Parts: sequence; C-alpha cells; structure tokens
Amino acid sequence: MSKLVIGAHQSFAKGFLQMGKDALYINSNTFQFFMRNPRGARAKKFDEEDANKLKELMVEYNFGKILCHAPYTLNPCSDKERVRELAYEVMEDDLNRMEFFPNNLYNFHPGSHVGQGVESATEMIVDLLNHTLKEDMTTTVLLETMAGKGTEVGRSFEELRDIIDGVNLKEKMGVCLDTCHIYDGGYDIVNNLDLVLEEFDNIVGLKYLKAIHLNDSKNPFASHKDRHEKIGQGSLGIETFNNIINHEKLKGIPFYLETPNDLDGYKEEVLLLESLKK
Ligand code: FE
Ligand code: FE
Ligand code: ZN
Repeated sequence: MSKLVIGAHQSFAKGFLQMGKDALYINSNTFQFFMRNPRGARAKKFDEEDANKLKELMVEYNFGKILCHAPYTLNPCSDKERVRELAYEVMEDDLNRMEFFPNNLYNFHPGSHVGQGVESATEMIVDLLNHTLKEDMTTTVLLETMAGKGTEVGRSFEELRDIIDGVNLKEKMGVCLDTCHIYDGGYDIVNNLDLVLEEFDNIVGLKYLKAIHLNDSKNPFASHKDRHEKIGQGSLGIETFNNIINHEKLKGIPFYLETPNDLDGYKEEVLLLESLKK
C-alpha cells in the first residue's frame, strides 16, 4: 500500500469505475474528478451501477477520500442573477450525488466578485453555503485557496476565514490548499513553509485543512497568474514538495495532482513523490 494518500485529477467523461481503475494504474489511492462539464453545468445521468462498482473497488484497495471539484463556471458572487442561481442548482445537485459516496470531499472556487467587492461577495458565498449545507450531509465542503487572478475571492487566508465565519454548519466546512495558487497569491512556501502554515493555523485553523492540490507553478512568486506546472519543473521546485509531503503538520492529509500530465505523467509524479516520502 502507498504511504501517501495521493491521487490525480481525472477526466469525468470516462465514468466512475474507470477513474478508480486509472487511479490504481498510476499507483495512487484516491483521485479528484468533476461530476459534470467543468466549463458548463450539464451533468450526465447518474449511473448507479457504475458508481457502485467504484465503491467496491475503493473498499477493496483501501482508497483515501475522493475529491469532487465543482465546475469552474460556478460563481455564487456573480453580478448576473442567472449565474448565481446556477451556483445553487449545481452545488445542490453535486452534493446530492456525493451522498452516494458518503464521507468524501467537495471542493469549489469561492467565486469572482466581478467588481462588486469582496465584502458583498463574501455575503453571497455564505448565503449559498447556508442554504445548501444540510445537517445530515456527510460530505465536507472545501473552499479552495485562489491565486488572486482578476477578482477572485479566496486569495488570502483572511478571505477564506471570513467565509467560514459566516457559515452556520462549520463542521461541514474545510479548506483545500493549492500549492501553485498560494505561492502565486504571495505565500512563500518555497522559503518559509513553516511560517505559512503557522499563519494558516492562526487565521483559519489547521483543523480546517482537509486537502492539498499539489501543483508546481509556471510563474514566479506572487504573480497571481494560476498556471500549473509539473512537479519539480516550476518555480516551487522539488525541494518544496519534499518539505510539504513530509511536513509533520500535514500528515494524513490527501494530496491531489492537477499538473499538466497524461496518466503516465501522473504515474511518474506519484512515483517521484513516494520516493521522497520519509
Ligand atoms: Fe480548483
Ligand atoms: Fe487547484
Ligand atoms: Zn489552478
């Protein structure tokens, strides 16, 4: 069995069981996926038989938590009413589907305020969560740390905390830390990983950290660009990933690769990271 809980982003089009099989093919024990078209909102009919086969495979091979990623088009703080409504419809449907796989993770980009300001955007995001999260839900909903491209909300730990602060069912909430995004956002995890984690703990709380997107970055520190690079081939460098996967405070947290790779490329990255694991 793998020592890390690690997986890669998988194409949603190939079906549930195939995503599980491909996770095994790249020597991983979890994966991330979209439930629907990431650039739209349309979802296929839910194939229960296929989903059941994945569930069996996950038990047999002792998978870690799988992570469903919301579509990129989801924006609860848009200035367009139809876009905001769609965010409610999509998240509700995604979360309903996720209950078929109890106790896993759902991640979303908090949104872009498109000039309306972070404060009103935060309110709109909080409203969505307070409407959508339910007491009997088993999925943990994660806010992703963003690079701060354009008017993205979630570019700082404070912005994430302000959202969580407004949510009633805080025990259903968590954060997914994206290594490319936070480096882009001005958190120097290359030279000061300890300090950044301390800051995260002070502002948000490490108990909310439920997942990590492992990505190198094509751009230099604090560039707010959000361009992922293969592990070890960008501005973060392999030593940074060595520090992250072996960090005492990050023990047991699942890692998901979103690097520009095909399956064989992911397989190599998993192998590389496993070789660094102490
Ligand atoms: Fe993301
Ligand atoms: Fe990410
Ligand atoms: Zn990204």
